[in-house]
Amino acid sequence: MTSSFPASTVLGYPRIGPDRELKRALEAYWEGRSDRAALEEVARRLREDTWRRLAELGLGGSPSNTFSYYDHVLDTAVLLGAVPERYRHDDDLTAYFAMARGAEGLPPLRMTKWFDTNYHYIVPEIGPETVFSLDAAKPLSEVREARALGLETRPVLVGPVTFLLLSQAAAGSPDGFAPLDRLDDVVEVYGRLLGALAAEGVGWVQLDEPALVADRTPAELAAVEAAYGRLGGLAERPALLVAAYFGDLGEALPVLARTPVEAVALDLVRGTPGDVGLLAGKTVVAGVVSGRDVWRTDRDRALATLRAVRERVGRVAVATSCSLLHVPYDVERETGLDPALRGRLAFAEQKVAEVVGLAHLLVERPGADVPRLSAPQARPSTSGARVTETRAPEGGRAPYAVRAAAQAERLKLPLLPVTTIGSFPQTEELRRARAALAAGEIGEAAYEDMVRAEIEHVIAVQERLGLDVLVHGEPERNDMVQYFAEHLDGFAVTRHGWVQSYGSRCTRPPILHGDVRRPEPMTVRWARYAQSLTSRPVKGMLTGPVTIVAWSFVRDDLPLRDVVLQVADAVREEVRDLEEAGIGVIQVDEPALRELLPLRRAGQAAYLEWAVAAYRWATSGAGDHTQIHTHLCYSDADQILAAIDALDADVTSVESARSRGRVLAVMASGVAGGDGRGFGRGLGPGVYDIHSPRVPGADEVERLLEEALRVVPADRLWVNPDCGLKTRSHEQVEAALANVAEAAARLRERH
Ligand code: GLN
Ligand code: ZN
Repeated sequence: MTSSFPASTVLGYPRIGPDRELKRALEAYWEGRSDRAALEEVARRLREDTWRRLAELGLGGSPSNTFSYYDHVLDTAVLLGAVPERYRHDDDLTAYFAMARGAEGLPPLRMTKWFDTNYHYIVPEIGPETVFSLDAAKPLSEVREARALGLETRPVLVGPVTFLLLSQAAAGSPDGFAPLDRLDDVVEVYGRLLGALAAEGVGWVQLDEPALVADRTPAELAAVEAAYGRLGGLAERPALLVAAYFGDLGEALPVLARTPVEAVALDLVRGTPGDVGLLAGKTVVAGVVSGRDVWRTDRDRALATLRAVRERVGRVAVATSCSLLHVPYDVERETGLDPALRGRLAFAEQKVAEVVGLAHLLVERPGADVPRLSAPQARPSTSGARVTETRAPEGGRAPYAVRAAAQAERLKLPLLPVTTIGSFPQTEELRRARAALAAGEIGEAAYEDMVRAEIEHVIAVQERLGLDVLVHGEPERNDMVQYFAEHLDGFAVTRHGWVQSYGSRCTRPPILHGDVRRPEPMTVRWARYAQSLTSRPVKGMLTGPVTIVAWSFVRDDLPLRDVVLQVADAVREEVRDLEEAGIGVIQVDEPALRELLPLRRAGQAAYLEWAVAAYRWATSGAGDHTQIHTHLCYSDADQILAAIDALDADVTSVESARSRGRVLAVMASGVAGGDGRGFGRGLGPGVYDIHSPRVPGADEVERLLEEALRVVPADRLWVNPDCGLKTRSHEQVEAALANVAEAAARLRERH
C-alpha cells in the first residue's frame, strides 16, 4: 500500500503571495470591486506558482491544501461540516467569510493566536448537537489541480485531536461538555475523507497535531491513541504522516509510536529527538530547518541531528520544523539589507533549498548535484557585561502608596480620570506621506510638519472633549514595534518581508540580529511637542521589551531572556529621557506578554519571572512622581493576572470586552496578587470595544463604570477605551470619546 516518503519536504508554505496578491484579491472581493471568479483565479495562480517553485527547487514532496482563503482551522471546520447554523448560506463563500469576518448583524467567530505564534486562527464552535458531514471539495480539488500540472502532492489537514482541542464549546452546551467529547464522530468523517483521497490515488496525507507538544492529560493522550489507531486501521487509506511541531512531543511520542501511522514529523529545532527510537519502523520526518525564524540553518549541526536520528530509526526524511507560513517568501528581494546580514538570512525559498541540500548530503550521493549550502554562520558575540548590568536591583521605586501620593500631588487629576490607549486614527494622508517620504518624493521636513499638525489636531480634540491625561496620538508610527526597531541599533527592517497575521492582514516583523542599543531618544521630541501644546498631562507612549521581541524575528545565539533585557535597557533609557523632558505619565505597552508564554507548564513560571523582571527594569528608573501605565490586550489576560500585577505599574488598562466581568472580578478580588492585597493599583478596564465601528452611548458607558465601581474603589478606577484607536475614523473616535467623558463626568458628580 505504502509508497516511501519523499526524501525532502516542507510542512506548509506561505499563501498570501510574494506581493500579498491574495490580500489585495480578498479585499477587492469584500469591497465588491471584483467577483468570485477573479478571486478564484488569483488563488489558483498562487497555488500553481507555489507548486512549480517547490518543484523547481528540487523538493521531493510538496504539500497541498495549505492554501486558504482565510484560515486553515476554519477550512477544517468547513471540511467537517461544522458550520454553525447562523452562518449557513446558499453561497459557500458568503458563509465562509461571515464566520471569518462577520456579516450584517452577525458577529464573526472568535479569533485567537495559533499556539505561540503571531498567526491568528478562527475558533470553531462545536456542541453536542453539531452534525458532522464530509465536504472534501477543497483538498480533492487541490490534489487534482496540482496533478494537472504534472505534480503529485500530499494534502495537509489539521488533525482531529488538535482541531477539537482548539475548538470552543458552542453556546448552550451543557456544563462539562468539551469539543473533544465528539472525537469519535469527527474521526469517522476523517476516515471517510481518507477513503476519498485513497480513491483519488493520493499516496500520503499529513495530519497536523501541534496540540500534542503542550501538556496533555492521560485522557487526551488516550484519545490520540484511539483516533490514530482507528484511522490507521482503515483498509482504504493513504499512508499517514502525523506532524507535531512547536516543541517536543514528550509523553505523546510513545503514544503515537503505538499507532499504525506510517510517519511522524518532529520539530527538531524547538524540540529534541527524545525517545525517537520508539518510532523505528516508521519514517521520521525530521524538522531541522526552522519554520519560525529567518536564520540560515547550521548545516553541520542539522546533518549531525539527521544522522543521529537515522541511526535510531532507519528511515528519515528532511523537512522544515513546521509550516513556512510564519516566514516571508524570499530574502533575495531584500536588496536594501546590509549584505553581511542578508547572507545570514533564509526566508521560505532559501529554507526549501536548505531542506533539499540537506537531503542530498544525507544520502551522500557521490557526484550528485548538491545545491550550495551556507557554512555555519558566525554570530556577533554576546555583550555579557551589558546583560548582567540589566539584572541590577529590581524595583528602585517606592511602594505604591508613596508613589500614588507623589503622583496625586503632581498631576492633580480628578476622580475617574479619562484617558486613551495611545494611538489616534492613522489617516490615509499620513500613510501616503510616509510612503512618499520612503520613496524620496517628499522631504523629512514636510513629513514632520504633517506629524506636528496631526499632534496639534489630536491634542485640541482631547482638550475640547475634556479628557484628563492626553496622548500625542502616535501619528509618526507605522507600527508599534517597527517604529522602535527603526530607531534602535541591532534591528533591521525588510521591504517585502510580509507574514500573514490573520485573513488578509500581514505584518513585517523586524529582524533583531545584533546587540540592541538606543543611539538617541526615539519618542521624546514628539511627546515634548505635544506637552508644549497643553497644560494637561501628556502621556508618553512606549512599547515594552517583551512585545518588541515577540513581534520580531530574534537572533538565536542568545537566550531570549537576555535579548529582552537588552531591549529593556533601551526602553529604560527612553523612560528616563521622557521624564527629564517633563513628561509626568509614561505608558509602556505589553500586549504580547501572554503570547510568549511557553506551551508547557514547566517553563511558564521561569518565563513570567524574567518577563516581569524585564518590564520592571524598563520602568523602574522612573521617579515616584512619574506615573507608569501599562496596557495589555489580545490575550486572555486572566491567565496571567499575577504576572500583570507583578509588573507594578501605577495604572493598568486591559482589553476586557470579551471577558470583562471575569477580568474585573479577579483583578479586584485579591486573587491576582495572591497575597490578599489584590490588584491594589490603578485599573482601567476598557469601556468599549474599539475593534468595532459602533459608537457606545454615554448611558452604556456609565453603566459599565458603575459595575466596575462595585469592585474597584473610585480613587483607583480609570476610564478608557479597550485599545488604541488607530483603526477607527476621527468621526467615530470623537463621538465615542465625547460619550465616555460625559459618562465619567456624571459619575464624578455622584462620588
Ligand atoms: N499604544 C498602542 C496604541 O494605542 C497600543 C496598541 C496595542 O495595544 N496593541 O495603538
Ligand atoms: Zn491594546
